[in-house]
Amino acid sequence: MNVADSEIVMSILKDAGFQQTKDINDAGLILINTCSIRENAEQRIWSKLKSIRHLKKKKKDLIVGLIGCMAERLKEQILETENLVDIVAGPDSYREIPLLISEAEAGHKAVNILLSREETYADISPVRMDKNGVSAFVSIMRGCNNMCAYCVVPYVRGAERSRDPKSILKEVRELFESGYREVTLLGQNVDSFKWNQNGNTIYFSELLEKVAKVSPLLRVRFSTSHPKDISDELLRTISQYDNICKHIHLPAQSGSTRILNLMNREYSREWYMDRIETIKKILPGCAISTDLITGFCTETDEDHKLTLSLIEWAGFDFAYMFKYSERPGTKAARKLKDDVPENIKTIRLNEIIALQNKVSSKSKKQDVGKVFEVLIEDRSKRTGDNLSGRTSQNKVVVFPEKGHRKGEYVNVLIDRCTSATLIGEII
Ligand code: SAM
Ligand code: SF4
Repeated sequence: MNVADSEIVMSILKDAGFQQTKDINDAGLILINTCSIRENAEQRIWSKLKSIRHLKKKKKDLIVGLIGCMAERLKEQILETENLVDIVAGPDSYREIPLLISEAEAGHKAVNILLSREETYADISPVRMDKNGVSAFVSIMRGCNNMCAYCVVPYVRGAERSRDPKSILKEVRELFESGYREVTLLGQNVDSFKWNQNGNTIYFSELLEKVAKVSPLLRVRFSTSHPKDISDELLRTISQYDNICKHIHLPAQSGSTRILNLMNREYSREWYMDRIETIKKILPGCAISTDLITGFCTETDEDHKLTLSLIEWAGFDFAYMFKYSERPGTKAARKLKDDVPENIKTIRLNEIIALQNKVSSKSKKQDVGKVFEVLIEDRSKRTGDNLSGRTSQNKVVVFPEKGHRKGEYVNVLIDRCTSATLIGEII
């Protein structure tokens, strides 16, 4: 999401006459796009600011801006304690950045952190920062109306709003025409995408279908789905189009219904398991990945064991796993005690990671001997002679070049795997 936002900011700055430099020492303006989701994300930004302090000393007219979620959350602290920062712009104020730069040039601290009910940056064509020219992010909505107790997103990114499907389709068509072969539709909860037009409502499954119809040669991915909202209708739409990728990211957060209730996730362990069973029924062979938080308030060993057993039962292909990090202002911070000791959080996280590694590795081993259609994305980072791409299930595959190039589809027979990668030969 932040990469997609940085691409919007780059586009706004380009229109205002700015150019990007690869060398930070040449920069007259440094903008740092920030994340507030966990404390360590914010800690990294404070360290980053320290690491550029010497540049400001060397170049007195250098302008430094902090943009994104942390700007929204910590405006005062940033301006008061960090003399270094000239501009603070929240996630809905990116259009104002050129104006804020002028104010900073005039010697004022420039701030705009107003959240909007409408801003989707629909009309802005992002300047793509990815290097491969094959896959791109397309933001379809902003903000979030779910109030998960642990989560800062609704506070820093504001209320949920969907983007006009016409502008989404225009962006996707332009991407395809300029050589892109994969788009990932982004939103905090894509299942609640909703656009009203002339008395008609377009929901996510219809949008997905329209994007898939842009070309059968364009792969379509999306993230993130919410287990409480992912519908059978959406799964059936995915099953009808070969180019809608067979991979669903469905964050479980916990395997314990008691913890899910405290988290305000609005589903139970059983509901989550039913969704997984339905995905496997409607979309056989579909990969499923998840997010898990360990050590949430009051989590017991029993709750933790329920998360472990869910990992084993679901056989997730991949998981992002985090220690619970209390975020000021959230419902959990106000109403619950962050009472799982840090060392227990660490032990539980390590157990979850170890089990998930085992489960992911089993899922990769099951792919050996099978043939997958792979979209070539680039040269392999490790072995320059090989190409690298992904299967529809989002698994990375490395294979010898044999005269093929990025952006092409090839069929690859998998002959072995490592913990992170499938290795094979084009057939
Ligand atoms: N909207 C998506 C969802 O609900 O799945 C993604 C939200 S967030 C940007 C990505 C992940 O960060 C969440 O799924 C959750 O696992 C994790 N996360 C959010 N708040 C957290 C917190 N306070 N501590 C630890 N992990 C957190
Ligand atoms: Fe945060 Fe929950 Fe919204 Fe995801 S759905 S962004 S976890 S509040």
